[in-house]
Amino acid sequence: QENLLEVKQLRTEFFSSKTSSVTAVNEISFSIGKGEILGLVGESGCGKSVTSLSIMGLLTATSGKVTKGEVLFEGKDLLKISEKEMREIRGGEMSMIFQEPMSSLNPAMRIDKQMIEGIRLHTDLSKEEARKRAAEILAQVGIPDPERVLKNYPHQLSGGMSQRVMIAMAMSCQPKLLIADEPTTALDVTIQAQILDLMKKIQEEKGMSILMITHDLGVVAEMCTRAIVMYAGEIVEEAPIDELFNAPQHPYTKGLIASVPKLGSGVKVLPSIPGSVPDLSSLPSGCRFAPRCKYATEKCRAGKPELFEVGENHYSRCWLASEDRKGEK
Ligand code: SF4
Ligand code: MG
Repeated sequence: QENLLEVKQLRTEFFSSKTSSVTAVNEISFSIGKGEILGLVGESGCGKSVTSLSIMGLLTATSGKVTKGEVLFEGKDLLKISEKEMREIRGGEMSMIFQEPMSSLNPAMRIDKQMIEGIRLHTDLSKEEARKRAAEILAQVGIPDPERVLKNYPHQLSGGMSQRVMIAMAMSCQPKLLIADEPTTALDVTIQAQILDLMKKIQEEKGMSILMITHDLGVVAEMCTRAIVMYAGEIVEEAPIDELFNAPQHPYTKGLIASVPKLGSGVKVLPSIPGSVPDLSSLPSGCRFAPRCKYATEKCRAGKPELFEVGENHYSRCWLASEDRKGEK
C-alpha cells in the first residue's frame, strides 16, 4: 500500500521563553496509506491535537514550534514549504475538522458565503457554480434542506447540523487527507453514529485517507483499520485494529481497553487507569507510564523502553515486550 502521509521523528516544543520549552510531541513516526483510516488515540493532553496542528502547519497562533522531523505529504516535506504553499494545501488536498464546529465556522457569515469562499479558494468555479456545488455537498452529508441551511448563520444550526456543515466544508475540495480531531465528541450518541457513518461512506466513495483523532476507542473500533496510541507525547503502541483490541501489548492500551463498556455486560462502573497524565515539564526518567503501571519494575524506572516490534505491523514501547511475558495475564 502506497503512503499518502509519512511523519518521521516529529518533535514539537512549546516555548515559554527563548531557552525554556516543554516537548509536547516527542519524535513520533507513523504513516497513513492511501484510502486508509488511521486512529490516533490517547487521553487528553497526550499530544494528539498538537500532532495534527503540527502536520497542518497551524501552530503559528501558539508558542509551539516543530523542532525536528519531517512531514511528507505525497513525498513533499510540508515543514519546508512556504506559508503560501501550505495555505493552498490546507483546505485543498488536506483538510481538517474539529470537535467544536463553532471554532471553524465564522459566526458573522452566512453558510453560503463561507462555503462559496472556501470552494472558490481552491477551484476555478464561478460564484454561481460554487453555490451549486455547496448545495450538492450539503445534500451529500444528509442535510434535508440545503437551501435553507445555506441561508442560515451558524448559530441558527443545531450541533449535529453544524458538524455536518463542517464536514461538508472539509469535503468540498475533495481532500486526499482529512484530519478529524474528536469530530463527534461534542455530539449525542445518535448523532455521533450518524456522523461516523457519513464520514465512512464519503471516505469509501472518494477513497480519501483519514487521520481519526479520538480518546474514544469505540470510534476507533468502528472506523479504523489500524491505530496508534499516544501517551505523554510519544507513541506507545501501534497495531492493526483486530490485534489492538484482542491482543493489546502495552499496559496503557490494556487499561484503555479495560475501561470501554462492553455492550450488554451490565457493568456500570468501569475500571479506569489510576493516576493521571504526567506533567510534560517533569517527566519520569525511565518509562513515562511507570508511575501508573502495575507491572513497573526497577528496570522500567531506570531506562526508557523503545518501540519494540511485537508482531506484524505491531509495536509496543514497553520492556515487557522484549522479554518473556510469563506470569502476566
Ligand atoms: Fe509498565 Fe515497565 Fe512497560 Fe513501562 S516499561 S509500561 S512501566 S511494564
Ligand atoms: Mg485534543
